[in-house]
Amino acid sequence: MLALIGPPLFLGLRVGLISKEPLEVEIFKGAVLKFTYERTDGMELNQVSTDVLIIGGGLAGLSAAVEAAGTGRKVSMVSKGRVGRSGNTVITQNNMAVVWKGTRTDDSAEQHIEDTLSGGGTLNGLDLVQVLATAAAETITWLMEQGVQFQRDQDDLLIKGSPGHSRLRTIRAVGVSQSNRTLGLAFSVPLADRAKALGVGFLEIY
Ligand SMILES: Cc1cc2nc3c(=O)[nH]c(=O)nc-3n(C[C@H](O)[C@H](O)[C@H](O)COP(=O)(O)OP(=O)(O)OC[C@H]3O[C@@H](n4cnc5c(N)ncnc54)[C@H](O)[C@@H]3O)c2cc1C
Repeated sequence: MLALIGPPLFLGLRVGLISKEPLEVEIFKGAVLKFTYERTDGMELNQVSTDVLIIGGGLAGLSAAVEAAGTGRKVSMVSKGRVGRSGNTVITQNNMAVVWKGTRTDDSAEQHIEDTLSGGGTLNGLDLVQVLATAAAETITWLMEQGVQFQRDQDDLLIKGSPGHSRLRTIRAVGVSQSNRTLGLAFSVPLADRAKALGVGFLEIY
């Protein structure tokens, strides 16, 4: 069983077995992966060769896929549900905390870290909190480059306050969903479109 990568902000790429039978992965010389997968309904049996195999089609998997495909490698995603339309990403509330350039000058990554540790009762993993706070602006910029849209206030992002944050640093993605239950499509649909455009293969096993 193998899963690969995810940008630091989207930790939590799910690793699991696709069906009752373990996914068999062989690694050949030249790091080309060859694997067999079977739909749970037993309808299809396919053999796939790929340079990069990503398991899970949420925000972590899609981000990893877009980054990997950008290097020119052949990328395949295996997902239990539909890529971009399954997992927690779809049901997120779309809020993200970021120390954004041009916002209040008294905010900083250090303050973001302090607030996050305080909110987490200091049970948080400090290294992960540090990545979250320091890489947030760069990651939001990357998401916008992939087509994700955020609420705007004239020429810049609309920054609001939210519980647990001592400064204004919450932004919200906006998108295609008409339902409050699928707000996360604002992230996953543009990224899935981008991945498709880059030639990423989607192996969806419902
Ligand atoms: C109600 C709710 C609200 C949230 N609101 C926010 C918010 O406002 N802001 C914020 O930053 N975060 C929020 N989160 C957290 C955020 O949604 C998650 O941290 C993030 O979406 C995780 O992305 P992911 O790609 O790691 O996982 P997921 O989006 O869960 O994707 C997992 C993927 O793996 C696939 N999969 C699962 N099992 C298998 C398997 N066995 N084999 C193959 N594929 C499999 C699924 O089909 C899916 O495609 C919220 C979470 C919830 C539940």
